[in-house]
Amino acid sequence: MRNSSKQETGTLYLVATPIGNLKDITFRAVETLKSVDLIAAEDTRHTRKLLTHYEIKNRLVSYHDHNKEKSAGNIIKKLSAGWDVALVSDAGTPGISDPGFYMVRLARKNGIQVTACPGACAAVTALSISGIPSDKFSFFGFLPVKKGKRKNFLKNLANENKSMVFYESNIRVQNFLEELFEALGDRYTVVVRELTKLFEETVTGRLSGLIGDERFTGGKGEFTIIVSAEDKRGKKADTAMMSAELKGEILSLLESGTPLKVISLRISEVYDFSKKESYALCLELKSRQDRSNKS
Ligand code: SAM
Repeated sequence: MRNSSKQETGTLYLVATPIGNLKDITFRAVETLKSVDLIAAEDTRHTRKLLTHYEIKNRLVSYHDHNKEKSAGNIIKKLSAGWDVALVSDAGTPGISDPGFYMVRLARKNGIQVTACPGACAAVTALSISGIPSDKFSFFGFLPVKKGKRKNFLKNLANENKSMVFYESNIRVQNFLEELFEALGDRYTVVVRELTKLFEETVTGRLSGLIGDERFTGGKGEFTIIVSAEDKRGKKADTAMMSAELKGEILSLLESGTPLKVISLRISEVYDFSKKESYALCLELKSRQDRSNKS
C-alpha cells in the first residue's frame, strides 16, 4: 500500500477491533490490517493474538498512553513518507476513551488523511441493549480518578436530561454506583458487564437495588454503565423495561393467593411506583389472569 514512488502522504486507518468475541470484526478491518504498511497497537502482545487468529502477518509498533508523544511523532513521519498506518486499541473503536484521540489530532494537524473501519464500541453496544432511551445521550467515559473531582463532576450532572453512558473499572464499579446514587438520586440504571463474552450480563434496576449486588463486588470483568435521565421518557422506558420482571413477580404473588392490596403496596415500594400506578397495574394483571382462568 505504500506510495513510495509518488511520496504522497499515507492514510491513517482507525480500525475497530472486537470488545470480547473475536468474531466481531469486519471483513474490511481484516483486509486493512493485512494491507497497511504498519499497525500501531496499544498492547502489541494483545493485538498479536488477534492478528494470529486472522492469519495477519504485519509489522506492529507500540502506541499507548505512556509513549504516545514519541510514538505518534514516529508514526507521523511514516505517514508523511507515504506509509498507510492502521491504529488499533486493545478493544473497540480507537479514539474512544483511549490514546487514539491524540494520534488522530496530530495526524489532522499534519494534514494526514484519517479514515475509519468502524465496528464495535462498548458504549454504543451497551446503550443499544439497555432499553434506556438512546435518541439523546451523553457519553462521559471514565470519570476523574480523584475523589473530589469525581464528586464535582457528578454534581454537575444532577440536571442532565439525556441518558448517560460511563465506563468504569471493575475495582471501582461498586463504589461508583454509590457515588451515582449520592449525586443523582435513585436513578434507573443498567450495568452491562463483559459484553460479547462468555459471562456477559446485564443487570437493571434502581441504583438503590444495584448497590451491594454481589455481582459487582468480585472485582472481575469490564463494565459499562447506563444511567437514565430523570424525565418522562426515562420513566416510561423504566416501566417498559421492568415490565417482564415485574409482571412475573405480580403474577406469582397472585397465584400464591396474596391479597391485591398487599401485592400493590409491595410493588410500589420495590419498584418505586406511585401507589395508584402500582394498584392499577396489579388490578389489570389480576383481571387478565381471571379472564384466562375462565377461558
Ligand atoms: N475504545 C473502546 C471502545 O470503543 O469501547 C473503549 C476503551 S476504554 C479504555 C475500556 C473500557 O470500555 C472498559 O474499562 C469498560 O468500561 C468498557 N468496555 C470495554 N469492553 C467492554 C465489554 N466487553 N463489556 C463492557 N464494557 C466494556
